[in-house]
Amino acid sequence: MMKTIDNYNFSGKKAIIRVDFNVPLNDKFEITDDTRIRAALPTIKKVLSGGGAVVLMSHLGRPKGVEDKFSLKHIVNHLSNKLGVEVKFADDCIGESAKTMAAELKSGEVLLLENLRFYGEEKKGDEAFAQQLANLADVWINDAFGTAHRAHASTAVIAKFFPNDKMFGYVMENELSSVDKVLKETKRPLTAIMGGAKVSSKIEIIETLMDKVDHLIIGGGMTYTFVKAMGGNIGDSLVEDDKLTMAREILKRAENKNVTLHLATDALIADAFDNNANTKECVVNEIPAGWMGLDIASETKKNFAKVIENSKTILWNGPVGVFEMEKFASGTRAIADAIVAATEKGAFSLIGGGDSVAAINQFNLADKVSYVSTGGGALLEYIEGKELPGVAAIRK
Ligand code: AMP
Repeated sequence: MMKTIDNYNFSGKKAIIRVDFNVPLNDKFEITDDTRIRAALPTIKKVLSGGGAVVLMSHLGRPKGVEDKFSLKHIVNHLSNKLGVEVKFADDCIGESAKTMAAELKSGEVLLLENLRFYGEEKKGDEAFAQQLANLADVWINDAFGTAHRAHASTAVIAKFFPNDKMFGYVMENELSSVDKVLKETKRPLTAIMGGAKVSSKIEIIETLMDKVDHLIIGGGMTYTFVKAMGGNIGDSLVEDDKLTMAREILKRAENKNVTLHLATDALIADAFDNNANTKECVVNEIPAGWMGLDIASETKKNFAKVIENSKTILWNGPVGVFEMEKFASGTRAIADAIVAATEKGAFSLIGGGDSVAAINQFNLADKVSYVSTGGGALLEYIEGKELPGVAAIRK
């Protein structure tokens, strides 16, 4: 039987948990969004309440060697408060001090290790480095979904030192089961909403989804590459001229696969990429020179909302407008509201990918959808059907 965090006996054991504490910090080193820390709490608490001790390891940012601004010491207080336990801190993730501190850890206690990426060995997946981390504990828990698509020392390589004592944490379990609800246990109709800036970064996922979804809604900056590909006038809107053929192919494939593809029919256009720009609504393929589409407009909002509200499963990746500016946020807000309405009627809704997560948080609607993913790239790769090293390391 596969070991899980719910069937494992943690009594007297030390668990080393790979968490994702890669949180945004401002220039005073204050945490500006602690979603990832809050997400990790249930797993930590489960080990503690089961009589175990916890060693936490994570990366933070992209340091080049040891850089104070990327030190995990900046999060110790916040973590202690959230956890209700005073968290100890080892200022080096390996070496004598980490070893001693881990050895002295008593059940109910928590030790946070310094940023793993202060060592180049972490990203290289160095085995000796992984072994030094493994030596600090009796059991390894992978709960860092955000890095599950990387074969790093702490996310995958370390597994070989825990052949019988490894498992997913709750974040990982929930992420994986949410994707399964969308792709495997699908209640239809299934609608995917793809937004964001560029088609180029979303092609693979769009192609994968084409085999699964009933409705594909395309919004955001990539709209205009499609509109131009169909011969429309897009003024100064964002466009990828080298992706016009690709856009035509996607349109054709949707037809062949019986996927209903929904593109914007009108746009909120602006005479500058600025919240103070002049704006007006316009038919999507008649945008005049000097103007650019920065959001969906009234008719499209209504049409997209209708499709979403009639869906039983929804996957949302990417905003449909420049939601960071208030003037161009209402389209993305309409999408979020429609997803909330569908969820209230019983649909399963998964929000994934950095910017739609930021949007749902900005609108304070995160707790009104079924699941908000903590992993951007990892989520997309898992949906695409790729084997994630951090998942395989536990399952194999
Ligand atoms: P992505 O990371 O590809 O999901 O892109 C997200 C970004 O796309 C956000 O920062 C949005 O501001 C931007 N975006 C959405 N719609 C548009 C648009 N019509 N024109 C330019 N940028 C857009």
